[in-house]
Amino acid sequence: MTAVPDITLNNAVRIPQLGFGTFQIPPEETRETTLAALEAGYRHIDTAQMYGNEKGVGQAVRDSGLDRADVFVTSKLDNGAHAHDDALQAFDRSLEELGLDHLDLFLIHWPLPGRGDFVETWKALEEIYRSGRAKAIGVSNFQPHHLRRLLESTDVVPAVNQIEVHPYLTQDDVRAVDAEHGIATEAWSPIAQGKVLEDPTINRIAQRVGRSPAQVTLRWHIQRGDIVFPKSATKKRIEENFDLFDFELSEGDLGEISALNRDERTGPDPDRFNG
Ligand code: NDP
Repeated sequence: MTAVPDITLNNAVRIPQLGFGTFQIPPEETRETTLAALEAGYRHIDTAQMYGNEKGVGQAVRDSGLDRADVFVTSKLDNGAHAHDDALQAFDRSLEELGLDHLDLFLIHWPLPGRGDFVETWKALEEIYRSGRAKAIGVSNFQPHHLRRLLESTDVVPAVNQIEVHPYLTQDDVRAVDAEHGIATEAWSPIAQGKVLEDPTINRIAQRVGRSPAQVTLRWHIQRGDIVFPKSATKKRIEENFDLFDFELSEGDLGEISALNRDERTGPDPDRFNG
């Protein structure tokens, strides 16, 4: 099995480019499902306070027998905890739930434009970062204007911006602004929660290269340089989604998939969503 490449973040922390997503995995199934992912070879797990399943993620990491240093764990701040002191307390709760002494990456989950000020929230994350209990900090669902405001008003440049990206929403503008500032793009809902898997172009390419539509879509993300963490509750798909590193798409294939963009979101619009 070919190894998952690392991406080096802007503070020199390394993150496996392929991870495992845990949104909508019920708390009581999270330990078992996350353990299946770790057994399949994943070394990067994406969770969030909002998912209610941090406990199961932490149990799986601890029960896996792997060294803590060999698993990259991300969590995200709940929308109800944007005030400075609330953010600090919520971070402590995350570590408690996970049963870990540090996170590898901690994100502001949503900018929440109508609900207070994410600059204040970011300053709390900067304190957490300086304490060493989060090895990197970043944002999620930030549009270019949110990023500019943050960069003008704070010290630490986010290590990542986690945004919805898939062939129907290629997000070239946000990805370009991320890249301009040394912010790595993480692509959430990388297969659009399954919606792109019926696409005729993706199916034609999949047939030609002898891979599944999910593998072709995930490989497209990898070759574009984004970090991805597909979610599956099924062992067979967990393994399928990990098996991406012994084939390559041509420039022509990549271009055809990128041309499927129709700016179609599966999730909320960050400029409107207020949690
Ligand atoms: P994904 O694009 O990863 O799709 C998950 C869905 O696709 C599930 O229904 C799964 O079904 C199905 N699926 C997975 N693999 C395959 C396959 N090989 N063949 C067919 N179907 C498949 O969606 P998510 O929304 O879960 O996004 C991934 C991760 O991104 C999340 O889990 C979360 O960690 C993060 N995220 C972050 C957000 C943010 O605001 N920052 C928002 C949303 C997601 P099954 O489980 O039954 O196999």
